[in-house]
Amino acid sequence: MRIALYALGGTISVSGRAKGERLTGAEIIAAVPGLDGLGAVLDVRDAQAVPSGSLTFAHVLDVVRAASRAVDEGAAGVVVTQGTDTLEETAFLVDLVWRHDAPFVLTGAMRRPGTAGADGPANVLAAARVAASDAARGLGALVVLNDEVHAARWVRKSHSTSTATFVSPNAGPVGHVVEGRVRVLAVPPRRPPLPAGYDASVRVALHCVTLDDDGVGLERLAETHQGLVVAGFGVGHVPGALAPVLGGLADRIPVVLTSRTGGGSVLRHTYSAPGSETDLQQRGLINGGLLDPYKARVLLRLLLSAGAGRDEVVAAFASHG
Ligand code: ASP
Repeated sequence: MRIALYALGGTISVSGRAKGERLTGAEIIAAVPGLDGLGAVLDVRDAQAVPSGSLTFAHVLDVVRAASRAVDEGAAGVVVTQGTDTLEETAFLVDLVWRHDAPFVLTGAMRRPGTAGADGPANVLAAARVAASDAARGLGALVVLNDEVHAARWVRKSHSTSTATFVSPNAGPVGHVVEGRVRVLAVPPRRPPLPAGYDASVRVALHCVTLDDDGVGLERLAETHQGLVVAGFGVGHVPGALAPVLGGLADRIPVVLTSRTGGGSVLRHTYSAPGSETDLQQRGLINGGLLDPYKARVLLRLLLSAGAGRDEVVAAFASHG
């Protein structure tokens, strides 16, 4: 059995040698005890060597293309090592376009190699076990850290330093790695894959609404951006004064309404005051459902890159949200 592993940088690759120097994928796996017993050969490629904040859609989709070829040529699964900062976004991007049953597993580390309790080796071993596991087939993109398996659809980075930072507030982990065995407890719903094309000129902004926010400056956003995600209060609310600004934008570009809370769904028909979810939908905002703002932005940018019109965007959020 063969597993394709792509190294993209991140804390898991910080070498501690010269400033900025990173470990290669081969060096990362050389520090992982127990890989011999996996029953699979890791085919390691160095794709990027950057902090994950410098990854782009193009980098991620390049890896998806390479991984897709590897699976077509017989790899049973895929592992990506990268920084944890943007992992919830890259994993969801992969999940939206991944067309194989083979597991696509993303992992990283919160502690640098060589520090006390460095978590990279355990995470790589658990990720490789999941990538090689029959139980994980058909689940799409998965995030494996801390011996937990999270669906890309739900996972969030919830803490700046904890090794237990990855959580899925709406669903919980879909599985665990226990004594080296992959236990899948829940099967996330899969949607048909979206086109993996990407147009770097498509810009989608994310605006987090705050107390007394009047949105000055936002009304010009449609001159530079093709879409907007709004992270509203609670169930999808904004100050009354902001509602007409967002409505004006929604006449020109798709504007998706999400919640800034980090868990739960935006509502559809419970409140009706100016700036409420009902008011904003009447002004043309698209309901993001259970998608958090970061994931909604990934989906909207992918859709607009593929040339989706408003009706397709509405339909996609009705299905994915
Ligand atoms: N800043 C690092 C990154 O995302 C953090 C990490 O890898 O955990 O690249």
